[in-house]
Amino acid sequence: MSELAYPYEAPASQALFDRAAAVTPGGVNSPVRAFRAVGGTPRFMVSGTGPYLTDADGREYVDLVCSWGPMILGHAHPEVIAAVQEAVARGTSFGTPAEGEVALAEAMVERVAPLEEVRLVSSGTEATMSAIRLARGFTQRTKVIKFAGCYHGHVDSLLAAAGSGVATFALPDTPGVTGAQASDTIVLPYNDLDAVHAAFAAHPGEIACVITEASPGNMGVVPPLPGFNQGLKDACAANGALFVSDEVMTGFRTSRAGWYGVEGVVPDLMTFGKVMGGGFPAAAFGGRADVMAHLAPAGPVYQAGTLSGNPVATAAGLAQLRLLDDAAYEKVDAVSAQIQSLVTEALAKEGVAHRVQTASNMFSVFFTDRPVVDYEDAKAQESFRFTAFFHSLLSNGVYLPPSSFESWFVSTAHDERAVQRIADALPAAARAAAEATA
Ligand code: PLP
Repeated sequence: MSELAYPYEAPASQALFDRAAAVTPGGVNSPVRAFRAVGGTPRFMVSGTGPYLTDADGREYVDLVCSWGPMILGHAHPEVIAAVQEAVARGTSFGTPAEGEVALAEAMVERVAPLEEVRLVSSGTEATMSAIRLARGFTQRTKVIKFAGCYHGHVDSLLAAAGSGVATFALPDTPGVTGAQASDTIVLPYNDLDAVHAAFAAHPGEIACVITEASPGNMGVVPPLPGFNQGLKDACAANGALFVSDEVMTGFRTSRAGWYGVEGVVPDLMTFGKVMGGGFPAAAFGGRADVMAHLAPAGPVYQAGTLSGNPVATAAGLAQLRLLDDAAYEKVDAVSAQIQSLVTEALAKEGVAHRVQTASNMFSVFFTDRPVVDYEDAKAQESFRFTAFFHSLLSNGVYLPPSSFESWFVSTAHDERAVQRIADALPAAARAAAEATA
């Protein structure tokens, strides 16, 4: 689909996209940014303030992506910016230990009870990759269970999401991942505990860990059914495997203590990113002290990083966490609920079959009238309606994730004016969704 299919243009963004395409594969540094799922010109943003982004053509959008989660206080929060400026003036990287990384780790450990020790890294991918290595090193086992539709970054062994059913050996999802890497990954349908029990029974003593998104947001928002995460934890405990909860997206967003704070299921290892970095590349993995003790230099499992615990990133993350008190979460939850009702109201008025699914303040809209509990359900939705809905909102100044398989994110900065702009844009978008054809 070309951008000409839409009745509006973004010439400055298009010019930048053309320049980008000459020097960067597909013109972007992360595939979803290219708008391939919805077509049209990706918007090149030049600035962000509070709930708004401004693009290269000077158009302002209410941002419902929030950098895919990190910007929970909105863009350019003055206290976060001040902390960054203070840190950056003292130097941008030392390659030595520094107090900021200790303070950030302490703040995380203080909020999330199962997090006894934490190691800082620079991306969520690095966090999950390292957690898997540690789980394998600790248990001396090779196999990993993951769930179809759960994304844990572009870790080779975790890009195997194909297949379903009991103990399906995964095929690599992408060229470049070898069959050997994928063959140690067992991909199961999400929310299916029977499949998990069957996989453990089929591979006694071989499974190092089960990794799951604490509450998935990468197939749209598909929360765990009651008892699912606890069932995973119990199955792992009964079989000598570790339970790894990926809180890169949910951590410090779905509550003060992330999804753990919502459900209370205690993982062996956890991974974090996004909110804890305040918009900078900071991420982490951590959990049980006896497991973390296997990590170098305390133990034999190697893991390292030139920019790990970077002083500017840790200052941003710490400033953001300090501002995230109970009142902040109440505000994010409230504005999320408000936008959810506006979306439902607009779509219902046009008779569009849909479901708004939520996980605390994370939410997404599926164009289907059936509950979505796994990836197969998510794929069965009428995504063509999302495309029309997305472009109508975009042309009216509302920036949604450019795919129907992503969570929407809001912030404490989404105020009445921002919500009103969404409310004003929704009727036309709902009409566009109703009129869309496959
Ligand atoms: N885990 C989850 C649940 C994620 O949502 C993501 C990214 O969206 C990652 C891991 C990977 O994080 P990053 O993009 O920082 O590598």
